[in-house]
Amino acid sequence: GEKQVLRVARHPFRTADKKSGAGFVWSVRDITQQKLAEKMRDQFLDAATHELRTPLANIRAYAETLMLSEVPDVEQQKQFYNTINSEAIRLSRFIDDLLSVSSIEGGALALDRQSVHVDRLLNEAINKVRPQMDQKSITFDCTLPEKMPELLLDKDKLTAALVNLLGNAAKYTPAGGRIMLNVKISAEQLQIDVQDSGIGIAEDELAKVFEKFFRSNDPRVREENGTGLGLPFALEVARLHGGTLTATSQLDKGSTFTITIPLK
Ligand code: ADP
Repeated sequence: GEKQVLRVARHPFRTADKKSGAGFVWSVRDITQQKLAEKMRDQFLDAATHELRTPLANIRAYAETLMLSEVPDVEQQKQFYNTINSEAIRLSRFIDDLLSVSSIEGGALALDRQSVHVDRLLNEAINKVRPQMDQKSITFDCTLPEKMPELLLDKDKLTAALVNLLGNAAKYTPAGGRIMLNVKISAEQLQIDVQDSGIGIAEDELAKVFEKFFRSNDPRVREENGTGLGLPFALEVARLHGGTLTATSQLDKGSTFTITIPLK
């Protein structure tokens, strides 16, 4: 039932004595996968160009204005330097994303498990996305277990995965919405739920969100910056820990992303 792309070619048919004109050989090749790969590459280039151009344009504009000394006010100058700094941070974050995906690609993403205070890991992730939520007046609730043990995890990668999930929740939830972080720890597993009251994901797109470079065509997604690399990275981090990352969602109602990591 899936749409297929076929390439049809016609070649002159020659007989053993090299005489042509005996007819034609038609070949039909299924190039669906190749076309899909090309489409994904094009989408990626579009997203990457946009993602690189916007911060660069801002950095140039603010730096040029400062160079021309058109901003005599010191406070305003400070604001300009801050913008240049945050745009540079955005660029390096994007490059980090690209690198983590290329390391998934090369199978080089390896875990560095260390004994980690789970509450520190959670706080670090929350602090990174808090400003984004505050900016949109999103209510953020957290349900954490009373006792937070030390666990053997890759702190940096798991924090980055969680920042992706919380960051998505903040990006794809309209102002005034709600995000909940629910953490449960049992003897068997660590379970982290990130639930939002956002735009949600259509049923036919839900399985695709873990594919590299996939971004929904929903205009509410397109107006946000993104590369479609956050979820594939988070999925890989969960898998490397022997765990899973799953999603449930209802369009216009909200989504829940769940990471589970076995502890035995
Ligand atoms: P990005 O956010 O950079 O586009 P991701 O890999 O993190 O890339 O997510 C892929 C796609 O999944 C998003 O573009 C969006 O369509 C969808 N998505 C992810 N998280 C959410 C969410 N919390 N609510 C709605 N859609 C989401």
